[in-house]
Amino acid sequence: MLSLHFLILVITNSRQYMQTAMAEHFKEASRCLTCLSYLNEPMHLICGYVCCLQCLNSLQKEPHGEGFLCPLCPVVSQKSDIRANPQLGELVSKVKELEPQLRVILQMNRRMKKFQVDVTLDVDTANNHLIISDDLRNVRRGRFKQNREEHAERFSHALCVLGSPRFTSGRHYWEVDVGTNKEWDVGVCRESVNRQGKILLSSELGFWTVGLINNQLYTASTTPFTGLWVSPRLRQMGIFLDMDMGTVSFYNISDGSHVFTFTKISTMEPLRPFFSPVDDMNDQSFLSICPVMNPGIVSPPNYPGQGE
Ligand SMILES: [Zn+2]
Ligand SMILES: [Zn+2]
Repeated sequence: MLSLHFLILVITNSRQYMQTAMAEHFKEASRCLTCLSYLNEPMHLICGYVCCLQCLNSLQKEPHGEGFLCPLCPVVSQKSDIRANPQLGELVSKVKELEPQLRVILQMNRRMKKFQVDVTLDVDTANNHLIISDDLRNVRRGRFKQNREEHAERFSHALCVLGSPRFTSGRHYWEVDVGTNKEWDVGVCRESVNRQGKILLSSELGFWTVGLINNQLYTASTTPFTGLWVSPRLRQMGIFLDMDMGTVSFYNISDGSHVFTFTKISTMEPLRPFFSPVDDMNDQSFLSICPVMNPGIVSPPNYPGQGE
């Protein structure tokens, strides 16, 4: 029989979920996909791409014509196809007014730490070019291939490694130190994701990740991908997975600000923490899982003798 306490918990959680999902939706819908700031005089390309009026100038033009190239898809829009959307403009001004409330709704909640789990790296899944520290908390790219047994569960080409444990239900929180790395992706993925050959990080393929490209563009692995406006720079990220609600949220630990939330993630099968240090072979660039007892403090990694 359902207890009253359980029922209240479910209602509170659903309300929180609705609030977070709506706040996330408004935040994303009011962003310009080109400058990543609030849309200013929003314009629609024929494919649905939205950007500010002044940002149209920074879109690439057709090589032999006047058409605008969409940064996300192959559709070309002629000048006459591009439409202003004053209703969206009004909505954006409302969202701007609500910004302080949205920030509060999306702000990292201290109670999330209650769900912190001890995540370690699963060497059997690690690509052979990745070096894993003895304590299974740090990963970086090595210069040489590591001598590890072949496993079907190992990523054959992509520089990826999964974390343990696997999650099947409930709420879980862990923190990752991304340091000063120029390129990385972290998040969760389905246990059954393809690990052979090249990997496309996409929520449609079971990867729900946030990453940094080229040391400048933060993205979420939606289809098409979502550019994220992140400030201050991400050094440590909190990841909160709610299997019951089907959401995974990312937070900037330095100020608790919200980075991104994936909603409606599939929880029909187990999920695993996901790490990909795509960075160069700099010895200082590693991804670290922060220890549970002392979140936020990362000791220098001690790698096993790898003959480098
Ligand atoms: Zn813009
Ligand atoms: Zn497009």
